[in-house]
Amino acid sequence: MADDAIRCDACPVLCYIKPGRTGSCDRYGNHEGKLVRLDPHVVLDRAVERGESIVPFLERSRDWDGTVVSHGETFVTAIGAGTTYPDYKPAPFIISSQVEGVDMVTVVTEGIFSYCGVKVKIDTDRHLGAECSTVRSQGEAIGHVTTSEYGSQMLSLGGVRHLTGGSRQEGVTTCDALLNLCNGKPVELKIDDGAKVIVQAAQPPVVDGIREQRMRVGCGSATIGMFAKQWFGKVDDVVVVDDHITGVLSEHQAGKLLGVPETGIKLKGRRSTPGRYFQVAEPGTSWGGTNIDDPLSILGKFNSKKAWPGLRLLMVSTTGEHHAYFELDENLKPRETGLPEHLRQSVARIKENCEPALCTVMFMGGAGGSLRAGVTENPVKLTHSVRDSLTRVTCGGAPVYVWPGGGITFMTDVSRMPQNAFGYVPTPALVAPIEFTLKLSDYAALGGYVDQVRPLGSFAKEDGRKRLTAHMENPWPLASETRKKK
Ligand code: SF4
Repeated sequence: MADDAIRCDACPVLCYIKPGRTGSCDRYGNHEGKLVRLDPHVVLDRAVERGESIVPFLERSRDWDGTVVSHGETFVTAIGAGTTYPDYKPAPFIISSQVEGVDMVTVVTEGIFSYCGVKVKIDTDRHLGAECSTVRSQGEAIGHVTTSEYGSQMLSLGGVRHLTGGSRQEGVTTCDALLNLCNGKPVELKIDDGAKVIVQAAQPPVVDGIREQRMRVGCGSATIGMFAKQWFGKVDDVVVVDDHITGVLSEHQAGKLLGVPETGIKLKGRRSTPGRYFQVAEPGTSWGGTNIDDPLSILGKFNSKKAWPGLRLLMVSTTGEHHAYFELDENLKPRETGLPEHLRQSVARIKENCEPALCTVMFMGGAGGSLRAGVTENPVKLTHSVRDSLTRVTCGGAPVYVWPGGGITFMTDVSRMPQNAFGYVPTPALVAPIEFTLKLSDYAALGGYVDQVRPLGSFAKEDGRKRLTAHMENPWPLASETRKKK
């Protein structure tokens, strides 16, 4: 170019980049007339001992001096490897190494994913919003609320329709939110007619300004089942308040088997089966994920034929966060008194059994498209090879779950990947690392670019790479135990 600009051909945007400047996505720059990938290319060492470090990746982070620990103990990820475009070109790196006497190949590329998004699991009892409600970031629709799971609320964010099917602003905002979530950064989300939640991978959610502490021990019925024995004889009845199923000890099968007598208690809501009630209140962010602050508001009048003055009643939420203790007066009206010492332990036990509340961010992408052409000239053979477990797919060295059925649609937990493993291009789309590892003979059989294969040793001589210790929890991508023999 006349002004010394060079063209980046790593994505369809085809930026012209002047010397000393970067392209639209900040991933590539013009360094003294050379197109360079700006982030370091990440190489993983096999974690030596489980428990060696509780801070994987970063503790031993350093520039790679080019030394291969040993074949099979060094894994070249796609993080910072670059992308090739158009798709028929071979992937940026196709590396061979010997693992336990077997010639292996790893094909690495940073895939551009238009079809991608994240599934978010938020461990909370609190009502975040109705199913199908729109989830917004900076006012733009970027996804929706899906199902509630056991103790958690699921969100589906991103996807091709938000990225490219709406307005330009919607696409850009969606891409930005996905990028931050995948790179382990906090993102504030607002659910239509629902809560404001700050989501960050592997961190507790912050719901309407309150940092969530723990997820529920189970639904109200399950809580009765788990702790009935600990309450037996110490209290006459227990109500476990829960937005899903509120449990009543004296009516529940657990109470019946223990011989808990009837107490004449009456619950509002819809009785499902004995001792299990749906819809005792509206969903909310208070007691057991309901909207009630006064637990007595879900009780009707006690049956005077069954109840008695002095009857002892414990009401507790499924996290133990809320609890109240009552005794009936001579008019069979509950009067709150302090929680007796002998019941404190059971409430503490509920809390003890609640796991820490976290956000889980699963990146989901489709690698069953043109990306495959960087691996083989006959793309469907890669799909078959993945399906047959001959090719292992990893994402920045982290394991993935490949969905059954057509294509290579995979999910991975972003917290198992090195931070900042993701990038973007302005189309807009997310850039995610993806590696395909298989035996060299299988690679040749599926029509791979065998002439492009480089031994790990030759690759090691180049600099500008970063060495990290693999995540302790991840299976080693080159390990033979999970490699299916043909
Ligand atoms: S957006 Fe990034 S990858 Fe795409 S052409 Fe520009 S610099 Fe290259």
